[in-house]
Amino acid sequence: MHRHVAAFAMTLILLGGGTAPTLGAQSTVRQPATDADLPSNLAAPPALKPLLSRMWNQSRTFRRQCARIRGESRLLVRIHTAASVSQSRGRAATYFNRGGAGILEADVYLAGPVDLIELIAHEFEHVIEHVDGLDLRRLAGLAPTTVWVTAHGMFETRRATETGRVVAAEVDGGAY
Ligand SMILES: [Zn+2]
Repeated sequence: MHRHVAAFAMTLILLGGGTAPTLGAQSTVRQPATDADLPSNLAAPPALKPLLSRMWNQSRTFRRQCARIRGESRLLVRIHTAASVSQSRGRAATYFNRGGAGILEADVYLAGPVDLIELIAHEFEHVIEHVDGLDLRRLAGLAPTTVWVTAHGMFETRRATETGRVVAAEVDGGAY
């Protein structure tokens, strides 16, 4: 596990200067997504790659999320599927850790397989909220309709909830 993280940190250093994917704004024909289209600092089980590629191809909101994640050179997002209920706190949850070399590790646990598209986009938005520096505890006090604490003791946000639904609506078969 540790070795894997170290190897990935090395990759981040090498690829960290990469630019966000350039999308032909006028182009209506899109090439099939490849691994290169997804952020290099995203680690996902191989079985999830076709779904992530489909999301990337069909959802501009998901592409925006990926570009934001890709732009954070000191961030590593790891998706774990078939997570336990305690890991996923029901359906999905993300945990943040400051790992070696100051890399922020975001571990996304998905219980799945229901609503995977919505849940992945939802959790990615939580990752982006985190790198945006949102103080969820403070916001929950100031604006409880936008940030609140769930029965599982986790912060929930309207922003992540809505983004998950938007991406699911943009992807064909979003109820996957
Ligand atoms: Zn949430």
